[in-house]
Amino acid sequence: LLMAYDPARRLARLQVSLERAAVNARMLYEILDTVPHQRDRADATELKLGQAQIEFRNVHFGYATGGDILKGVSFVAEGGKTTALVGPSGAGKSTVISLIPRFYDPGSGEILVDGQDIAHVTKQSLRNGLAYVSQQPYLFEGSIRDNIRYGRPGATDDEIEEAARLAYAHDFILAQPQGYDTPVGENGVTLSGGQRQRLSIARALVRKAPILLLDEATSALDTESEAAVQKALDHAMSGRTVVVIAHRLSTIANADKIIVMRDGLVVEEGTHKELARRPDGLYARLHNLPGDIAEIAAGADAL
Ligand code: ATP
Repeated sequence: LLMAYDPARRLARLQVSLERAAVNARMLYEILDTVPHQRDRADATELKLGQAQIEFRNVHFGYATGGDILKGVSFVAEGGKTTALVGPSGAGKSTVISLIPRFYDPGSGEILVDGQDIAHVTKQSLRNGLAYVSQQPYLFEGSIRDNIRYGRPGATDDEIEEAARLAYAHDFILAQPQGYDTPVGENGVTLSGGQRQRLSIARALVRKAPILLLDEATSALDTESEAAVQKALDHAMSGRTVVVIAHRLSTIANADKIIVMRDGLVVEEGTHKELARRPDGLYARLHNLPGDIAEIAAGADAL
């Protein structure tokens, strides 16, 4: 019990959450940014998207500040299917996600999208194929319409409304004082956590990108918001290649494939049914603990 009050441990946890917030903000800005500001290789080609299958081949990666975080990660996220990343905190799940838009490049190994090594394609063509929904939806200063359009600056008002409908946001938007023109952000109306999340899902949907990277929220919403957000996500996920850092048991159970990570490695993969059947597996051990998967992930530190 004393451990829980250990200031060093608390500081370490704070640092991890700050790092995560920084990565989330960066993911959002950089994926949405349509102006390429990082150099591509001189011979970079345009990514040609088909099924939008993603493959990690023996990927090793470490941040500049430390040792290897990914120690030879290989897996395939099938086109049009949902792949859930699960595992204890610090296993490397967010790091895997951040390599897909090329915020970092692997030290060795390859990441392929539809068979093309992403190191050899232009960043803009890669990121045009991606949308990202983070745990902490961020609203910019501006109207609701502007906030959705940020996902794709060329989107028409009709496309914005279509995305909002699919994200179960249209009705609450119309109920705001100026509908789609209602200002949000620091000086605008206050939206609930669930409403903010649905706006950020609408922003991802308006991109019409075939690949969705999703960091599933762990924070609790009330039951009604939760149901609306879930429906919005179901729309966003359907027909796309989804790689999700999954915390909800329902997401994990419905995923086409589960990748179980620990300490920078994929230790198991399969469907919920397959993995739950292996009595000695990490997944089965995580899964048998009571409570929801967020608690399970926290408890998994002890494994
Ligand atoms: P969680 O569920 O807690 O987010 P995770 O499985 O997503 O964990 P990562 O966030 O990928 O794990 O972190 C893996 C390791 O890499 C951790 O030790 C973390 O502290 C470290 N790390 C993550 N981001 C950075 C960064 N930007 N710079 C340095 N180290 C980092």
